[in-house]
Amino acid sequence: MTLLIYDNIYLEHNTGIGHPENARRVENTIRYLESNSFLNLLTIKKPRAASQEEISLIHPKTYIQTIKQIADSGGGWLDGDTAVSDASYNVALYSAGAALTAIDLIMEGTVKNAFCLVRPPGHHATPKRGMGFCLFNNVAIAAKYIQTNYKRERILIIDWDVHHGNGTQDAFYDDPTVMYFSMHRYPFYPGTGAKDEKGDGEGKGFNINIPLPLDTKPEKYIELFSEIISGSVNKFAPEFIILSSGFDTYKRDPIGGLNLKIEDFHTLTQIVMEAAEKHCDGMLLSCLEGGYNLTDIPLCVEAHLKGLLKMKS
Ligand SMILES: [Zn+2]
Repeated sequence: MTLLIYDNIYLEHNTGIGHPENARRVENTIRYLESNSFLNLLTIKKPRAASQEEISLIHPKTYIQTIKQIADSGGGWLDGDTAVSDASYNVALYSAGAALTAIDLIMEGTVKNAFCLVRPPGHHATPKRGMGFCLFNNVAIAAKYIQTNYKRERILIIDWDVHHGNGTQDAFYDDPTVMYFSMHRYPFYPGTGAKDEKGDGEGKGFNINIPLPLDTKPEKYIELFSEIISGSVNKFAPEFIILSSGFDTYKRDPIGGLNLKIEDFHTLTQIVMEAAEKHCDGMLLSCLEGGYNLTDIPLCVEAHLKGLLKMKS
């Protein structure tokens, strides 16, 4: 009852030589899951592309056109970190589209939960600006898609990537229907994510940041994570849960600086699954964000998938 969405098209987004966000992240992961037959435990589907209309649930059409034009002209950079190659616009449509494919299959009852093994990632992309390796905000588009197509109002986005998802926060900062809960290293890239950024207007109280110092112990991380889930999240009573699943919180990540062990991703998944079962019939959508240890990201993903499958770690 767990879905994995993947397509080799994700290898075509080219960020250049030496970039931490490269095709080997997902290539190594899918190869590993094939080699140990783990894929046999999952329902595997290819994604559809998101339409421009669907991307514009979050991003203005002018921004979407800018990304398309850069790709069509052979590629370029949005900032020092964020590459757009000739294939990137199309690949980004399939990265966002994976989440939408998964939502449809979850909602029609074919699967209970899903993991999208995608790139480019999305959580740093604000409505008007791509940055931090992200072009379109996959989870933000997914949240709007559920509200628009499935009449579920209260959506929870949990973000356990080591970086604060400034783009997701921006998209819903004054929106009380989408709760954003992020735990991240702070101060750190992209600079946002302080505890007092709690939302604005009607959205006040629906944006929860738990900033953590460098080298926070896994026990502390899990304790704080559980507290928010059993407190604010429980009170919010989400009708659907989306996870921004970054594995750069892993202790051997080359750019992360936090200390989670491989099995901690299983524990965190169990905590999220309990909330999903309590509030929304177990429905859960997880989308890959960061995670840059090319050798170990497959193991982190496997631990996460075991949690989604309710297997032991
Ligand atoms: Zn990250």
